[in-house]
Amino acid sequence: MKVVHKVTFILVIATILVVQLYWMHGGGHVFKVFPSQFVFLATNDQPLGGVSSSTVEQSESEVVLRCKLAKSDAYPWPYCGVAIQLGETMQQGLNLKRYHTARLNIDFEQLDSDIAPTLRFYLRNYNPAYSSAEDEYTQKYNGLAYSPGVNQGVIDIPIANLQVLTWWLADNHIPIAYSAPEFTNVTKLELATGSGHFTGEYKMTIKSIEFVGNYIEGETLMLALLVFWVSLALVYSIVEIKRSHQLILQSHFRQDHLRKLNKELQEQNIQFAELANRDALTGAMNRHSIRGWLDEHFEGAPGQTKTLSVLYLDIDHFKTVNDKYGHAMGDDILREFTMVVLSMLSPSERLVRWGGEEFVVFCPGLNLAEAEELAGRIRHRVESHIWVHGDPMTTSIGVASRCNERTNAMLTRADEALYMAKRQGRNQVVTSAQFD
Ligand code: GH3
Ligand code: MG
Ligand code: MG
Repeated sequence: MKVVHKVTFILVIATILVVQLYWMHGGGHVFKVFPSQFVFLATNDQPLGGVSSSTVEQSESEVVLRCKLAKSDAYPWPYCGVAIQLGETMQQGLNLKRYHTARLNIDFEQLDSDIAPTLRFYLRNYNPAYSSAEDEYTQKYNGLAYSPGVNQGVIDIPIANLQVLTWWLADNHIPIAYSAPEFTNVTKLELATGSGHFTGEYKMTIKSIEFVGNYIEGETLMLALLVFWVSLALVYSIVEIKRSHQLILQSHFRQDHLRKLNKELQEQNIQFAELANRDALTGAMNRHSIRGWLDEHFEGAPGQTKTLSVLYLDIDHFKTVNDKYGHAMGDDILREFTMVVLSMLSPSERLVRWGGEEFVVFCPGLNLAEAEELAGRIRHRVESHIWVHGDPMTTSIGVASRCNERTNAMLTRADEALYMAKRQGRNQVVTSAQFD
């Protein structure tokens, strides 16, 4: 498994775990509206011309509202309640979007009646699109009404159940785009008597108000995960593109390199092929290459009737050159000898270094007399040449001409003639006919 696959696998597992954890425990965040941290204000209809009265007693643990609802001719809908300022100012509220539940522990009773009164629960949202700072009434009424009763304990109200009051929408001419409940900038929480309440005395005991919600909004989490994965994919793609680019460059470089190498090898092959046919020291043909030449021109010929003669050359007392002037000088003399002999040959004749200081000249079309004549000229030329080391040099030559035999047999006879030339005192030409 590649590292990238391992990392992806781990990240996928981590993502699933995060979503799972969010699903199981992400909704456990609680925001408490403590009486010690927020101001609880008594509200009533008096500012609108009513005559109801209300007072609030705020202690560490609870807040108690006492209210007297009374009818007046000036304002026909008497009410009272508690307002809790959540934000810093009238315009600056709290974002309660991530909370899904309002958990209320409130007792509400009419002291002079047995009827359980309803309570209105409002979250007021300020949005400059429809609210004005001067008019408190323009803050959106997200709310619902319920009967808390007395000592009923905690009641959970799903925030999704809150609705925008229709009379508020109508009064403020709110466009449809803003008619849905909103909780992004809640400035106030209000608890008030419900509509159609009978006049009388009421008592509201607020024991606790809590909002339960997600540690972070689901949308934010999903967006963060999406951004994370998209960024990861982007980074991976960029790295991959760069890597492929690098690989392409490398393969181009390798191709170029191989092309050059191939060319060099081809050139070297040609050189080697040439070298294989030539003696490395003197540049004369070698024994291997003359075999091919003979096969091509003589051995295959029917009846082997073509005329062919050979001159077997051996430099006289060559060892003394080495002894006197060193091996390098000996090499130079061998090269010079080759040039001297070659200068005496026609294009059809072949000079072969047979080994050491021995050479064989193959003369196609030359009979024994003609070959002997050529050998004489070569011997003379060698004798008269001024050599690089300054000493005179001579060569002995054995000559043979082919007469219904294989080339090797002719060469043996030439070698024997050469042997004779050496024995007779060197610097001379001996033909095989002379001792046959
Ligand atoms: P002879 O007249 O009987 O032929 O005497 P020689 O000294 O020429 O013959 P010999 O066979 O005694 O010695 C041949 C010498 O040639 C011995 C060897 O060191 C030398 N030789 C053979 N090949 C090379 C070569 O490639 N380079 C050099 N410098 N010397 C070589
Ligand atoms: Mg020799
Ligand atoms: Mg010799």
